[in-house]
Formats: sequence, structure tokens, C-alpha cells
Amino acid sequence: MTVARFRPTRVEVDLAAVAANVEHLVAGASPAELCVVVKADGYGHGAVPVARAALAAGATSLAVALVEEALELREAGVTAPVLVLSRAPHEALAPAVAAEVSLTVDGEDAVDELAAAVAVDPPGRPVGVHLKVDTGMHRMGASPEAATTLARRIVASDGLALAGTWTHLARADEPEVPTTDLQLDRFDAVLAELRAAGIDPGRVHAANSAGALAHPRARYDMVRCGIAAYGIAPAEGLVGTADLRPALSWTSAVSATRLVPAGDGVSYGHRWTAGTDTTIATVPVGYADGVRRDAGVRGVEVLVGGRRRRIVGNVTMDQLLIDVGDDEVHVGDEVVLIGRQGDEVVTAAEWADHLDTIPYEVVCAVGARVPRHH
Ligand SMILES: *Cc1c(COP(=O)(O)O)cnc(C)c1O
Repeated sequence: MTVARFRPTRVEVDLAAVAANVEHLVAGASPAELCVVVKADGYGHGAVPVARAALAAGATSLAVALVEEALELREAGVTAPVLVLSRAPHEALAPAVAAEVSLTVDGEDAVDELAAAVAVDPPGRPVGVHLKVDTGMHRMGASPEAATTLARRIVASDGLALAGTWTHLARADEPEVPTTDLQLDRFDAVLAELRAAGIDPGRVHAANSAGALAHPRARYDMVRCGIAAYGIAPAEGLVGTADLRPALSWTSAVSATRLVPAGDGVSYGHRWTAGTDTTIATVPVGYADGVRRDAGVRGVEVLVGGRRRRIVGNVTMDQLLIDVGDDEVHVGDEVVLIGRQGDEVVTAAEWADHLDTIPYEVVCAVGARVPRHH
């Protein structure tokens, strides 16, 4: 069913920018391969179109957080290798195996559970699994001490093969701290132990975008890049390390304007009061679409008529207000929340600064109610 789209609020995703970012990351990481991370609907950019663009531009595989996300790619006809980065729930194992989705295991119970699922309906060849080692993130993964025993269990399990060994970096976006080297030393020790035990670790990977950009030793056989593929630097300090083009722009249009006299407050709670007589423009996008309720109070700006204008007062569920001063602003005028208008540009990183978060959260927050155009 095609749903009619009447409201002007939309996200535009520039797949040529994704392709350019991917080509750049491929060149920088080579000879390591590039796996593009398209979890959370491609960080809000649309997983399937991004996956296709990334693969066409040189990525060799994809990663997601959930089996559901992997199956969405398969249903769309994406045949490239897909790795699930979190532990899959029991009920998801059989569908994942049937769809040839690679799973991550991090404990003996996970290995046994998967081996049992594979035994029910064995595919023609062994199912490749990736062993996750916790070297310091402390979110998931086997301890370094347990890794070799676990790898042995995988290799010895009927129907399973060790296709990869990986870890995840907690502070790769802070190149000056020693944490990354410490994690990689622990990881290298695990790899040496596996090899000494005669076990091939398969494809070895550790780096997220920050790791791939800032830590050459973290590249191993493959890097797992999410944020950089979307054209966003993983941290302020890494802005210069790669030539990235933001792929996402988020636009709407003015739906009403009114003169508000000096001294009058606007929106719920009257958290902002006009200092002088001014024009307030209404924009049909709100916190249900992913603009945080306190965006105005925290100073987030948008573009109207090529100029920066502040969001004022509390953002409401479906609409927000901007102070356009004395400007001639009309119903229907384009409003850029994130992206370029004339010579001005507002980035997700700038929103993140105001909102005291990271650009990842800003782009992932753009709600499902906002249609994506590619
Ligand atoms: C999300 C994620 C990535 C990608 O991180 P970016 O910083 O977006 O490049 C890589 N690996 C794992 C395990 C992840 O969860």
C-alpha cells in the first residue's frame, strides 16, 4: 500500500555521498575490507538503500544489531554477507541460519544453542560464526581467558565453523588515551593463543569508524564502519581525518506565521518570551519526529531563507516554533533542520553539541513518521 504523503517534513538521503564516503573508507582501510554497519535502519538513513549503495561502492559485507534487521536486508534481496553484532535470542537462530546470516557468539551456551538449532535443519555446509571477545568494552563477549576454550567448542561443534574473531573498542574516538592499545594488546594475545592452539580465528576485526580512521593497527582483516559511511565524523577530534560528506538532510516548511508582541511567551509553559515584537513561524515537525523537546531551550538553530534562526520555546509533539525576527517569511518556505540552504549549513554534530550528546543519537532519533527519500 502506498501511503499518501501530505506533510512537507522529510529526510533526503544522498546515496552518492554514501558511495563517496564508502570509497574513501575502502581506500583508507585497504588491504582490510570494509563492512558497513546498517543497524537502526542505517542510523536513520534507510538500511536497504544504504546497504545497496555501500556494496556498489566497494564494501564487502554488512553488519546489523538484530536478526530482524538482517532479515529485512535479505527480504529486500541483499545477498552480501551480513553479521549480527549482538547476541541473537533463541527464537531468532533458525531464521538467521536459514537466511545465511552470520551470528556472533560469546559463551558456551550460545555455541550449544546455535549448534542445536543448526542440527534441526542442517544446511549443506557449516554455519560460520563470529566469536566476540570482550577486551574492555564490557558490554558483551567472552573474556580473553575463555576465548580459546570457546573457539575449540565452536570448531568441535557439528555444523559450525569459526568464521571470525572480533572485539569492540570503547574509546577509539579518543586517540590520545591508551585504552585502545591496551584492548588491542589483549586481543592480539587471544589471537596468538588461538593460533598456537592450531585454531584459525577466521576473519579478524576490531575497528569501528574511529578505530578505522585513527588506529591503523586496529584494522586487521576488516573494519566495521557505521557513522563515517553516513558522512559524520565519529568525534569532533577526528573531523579532519577523513573527507566525509554528510548524507542526510532533514527539511520541512513553514506552516504558519504570526506577529507576537514583546513580552508574550510562546509554546507550552511559555519557556521563551519575545524580547521585541517579532514574527514567529510554525514548522510541522516535533518531538514525535525526533526533535528533542528542549532543542529550543538549548539553542538549536535551523535555516530559513538562507539564515540561521533559533527554535524558541518548548518543542511540541508535532510542531515547533522559530523566531524569524523581521524577515519576510511565508507559509511554504523551506526550513532546513539539518543540511544546507544557500551558504549556510547545520550539521548533526552541531545539534549534538547543543543537546549534549553525539551526532549518532541525533540522526538515529529521526522518527519513523518522517519519510526518507533517496
Ligand atoms: C555500531 C557498531 C559499530 C559501528 O560504529 P561506528 O562508530 O558507527 O562506526 C561497529 N561495531 C559494533 C560492535 C557496533 O555496535
